Amino acid sequence: MASSLAATSNRQSYVQLDIVIVGAGLGGLAAAISAAQSGHNVVVYEAAKELAEVGAGLQLTPNCTKILQQYGLSDAFWASGAEPTSLSVHRYTGSILAHDEAFSCNIRKRYDAPFLDMHRCDLQKALYERAKALGVDFRFGSRIIDMEFEHARPMVSTEQGCRYADLVVAADGLWSRCRSRFLGRNDPPKPTGDLAYRVVLDIEQIQDPELRRWVSEPTCHFWIGPGAHAVGYSLRGGKMYNIVLLVPDDLPPGVSRQPGSIEEMKALFKGWDPILARFLDLVDIVDKWKLMHQARDALFLSQLGNELKGPFPSRWTCPQVQSWLYGYDAYEEVENAVKADPFPRLSNNQRDEVIEAGWLARLSDWLPLLSGFALAYAALSIRRLHGKVMVQG
Ligand SMILES: Cc1cc2nc3c(=O)[nH]c(=O)nc-3n(C[C@H](O)[C@H](O)[C@H](O)COP(=O)(O)OP(=O)(O)OC[C@H]3O[C@@H](n4cnc5c(N)ncnc54)[C@H](O)[C@@H]3O)c2cc1C
Repeated sequence: MASSLAATSNRQSYVQLDIVIVGAGLGGLAAAISAAQSGHNVVVYEAAKELAEVGAGLQLTPNCTKILQQYGLSDAFWASGAEPTSLSVHRYTGSILAHDEAFSCNIRKRYDAPFLDMHRCDLQKALYERAKALGVDFRFGSRIIDMEFEHARPMVSTEQGCRYADLVVAADGLWSRCRSRFLGRNDPPKPTGDLAYRVVLDIEQIQDPELRRWVSEPTCHFWIGPGAHAVGYSLRGGKMYNIVLLVPDDLPPGVSRQPGSIEEMKALFKGWDPILARFLDLVDIVDKWKLMHQARDALFLSQLGNELKGPFPSRWTCPQVQSWLYGYDAYEEVENAVKADPFPRLSNNQRDEVIEAGWLARLSDWLPLLSGFALAYAALSIRRLHGKVMVQG
């Protein structure tokens, strides 16, 4: 993958903030990098004792890779992706419903950034290493158990103690405790009604020459069937293959992940494209992941500007969604928001103090920091891609 993608942005802020980030997931790490690049002091609290090598493939749409280009990530990171040259949508039996032979070229031309397929672990590791190199302080095994917003400076507490900050970024994921604390009510994510079987195959496991070609020459495939769909794409420069099978959720309430039965999985896709069946024959272990979302529909509808009837729109069939999602420019969005109303929640007195301190004039220097939130947002888009119809996995 082209290392020239690694164009960095290093605009320094005139003020140095103490920033606490809750969660070292994709959003938290992205925010940490943006904030550190702007010169702020950043500490990340992560509940897990270490970053687990858990997960499977993610599809990084160009709105996301555009931001990643600013982070100065390693060449190894870009090499760990796979850029699908073409994209095909199949009827579940295999026939082609839609095909873009020049998918990667078209995407780069249209959005000035690539569409990449990547293992979640590779992305998380690269973001973590970059944040460490920028001096971000990580506290693993530190679960935030409470937050306070009522005082001049927000505060977070763990079992080990509490810490004040100028800014707290709540990036603690779908089941965010910070979000509930901020809203003052429990706000759990909602089930999408689907679950995903996630399969990752190493090319070494595959003897069949046709299947090996599918893996080593990255392309992206969707199969649309009755009550289910499947997505397949390469990872790690064509050395791994990721398959996600989306089916109606039958996991018990409260269970978000469970080992899956291979026989049950194959039975659900009996009669589908023979090539998919040949891949599934190679699977010896699979997990079922419940797909949840947080305000997905409301967010999308607000961007589309009108209410849509019928099922949630797919970006494959809904041109308004694709251009908004792929073409969304987080930097531009933040810049416009800051220009329009930089301190919407401040009282007049507070606003005056800030202006006197000269911060307002320098707000544009904070933009790289704010873009971290946008990547958190973009990362959420990535996750949304695994939802019902939007979706890949
Ligand atoms: C282990 C794991 C594997 C995943 N695998 C896939 C995958 O294969 N494909 C896919 O599409 N999506 C996957 N996802 C989901 C996807 O990565 C995220 O939904 C998406 O990246 C959103 O990012 P986020 O930063 O908002 O949240 P996440 O990436 O979920 O990160 C949230 C982080 O906050 C930490 N945290 C939570 N509560 C606290 C607290 N109170 N105090 C401190 N830290 C806290 C969590 O331990 C986690 O590290 C996975 C998520 C996780 C956590």
